[in-house]
Amino acid sequence: MLEINEIFGPTIQGEGKLIGTPSIFIRLSRCNMRCKGFNVNYKTPNGELKKSCDTYYAVDSAFKNEWQKLNSKEIIKVVSKLEANPKIDIVITGGEPLLYWQNDEFQKLLKYYVEKEHQVTIETNASLDIDFTEDYQKKVLFSMSVKLSNSLETKRKRINIDTIKKVFSETSNSYLKFVVNKSSIDEIEKEILDILKNIENYEVYLMPLGSTVDEINDNSKAVINMAIKNGFKYSDRLHIRIWDNKRGV
Ligand code: SF4
Repeated sequence: MLEINEIFGPTIQGEGKLIGTPSIFIRLSRCNMRCKGFNVNYKTPNGELKKSCDTYYAVDSAFKNEWQKLNSKEIIKVVSKLEANPKIDIVITGGEPLLYWQNDEFQKLLKYYVEKEHQVTIETNASLDIDFTEDYQKKVLFSMSVKLSNSLETKRKRINIDTIKKVFSETSNSYLKFVVNKSSIDEIEKEILDILKNIENYEVYLMPLGSTVDEINDNSKAVINMAIKNGFKYSDRLHIRIWDNKRGV
């Protein structure tokens, strides 16, 4: 069984390399981090005030009564009712979906959509160990949003160079995505370059930190300048601009 936070779409991918591409999202619950530095304040169902990222409802087990345990067949059935075209992209996100990499139902889901020739993206923080043992796994695109010190997680927990290298060597089109805020941009630039010195043939996207349009606008110019300076690409966050970060669109 997989713990599912939400399945929604059809919509468009709001960020990263496939921005604007029609997609259905399968959001898995649980994460190995909390990323309090992303500064999203929220209230748990029992009224506790906490801070995390903008998908806190998929991360914090205080919301587990809202999560559903589904197997791959049940997930495929829900998705099939949403499919606006037979080859729509499937985005597996979280929380941290690679917590389920060893789960048979997770692998069945990947295999099903890859064999049906959907583009499958896994949105991951790339901090967990994984192995590629099957050909279909190598056809998945990994959007690796590696966390930096602005997440307030420890470096040991955030950075797993072996996994990043493995993804780049076993898959094609996978990429790194970093969330950048202008207030600590020099420090962040150093951190990113430090990670990249251990990796060959990477593709990097930078995104402005923020869960509101104002926060994104405040950070975006500095992030664009950093992208130009280093030969990285800029990714906007369309879901925030268009839907104000509302769930399920
Ligand atoms: S790794 Fe991603 S999903 Fe997990 S807490 Fe951090 S930002 Fe949220």
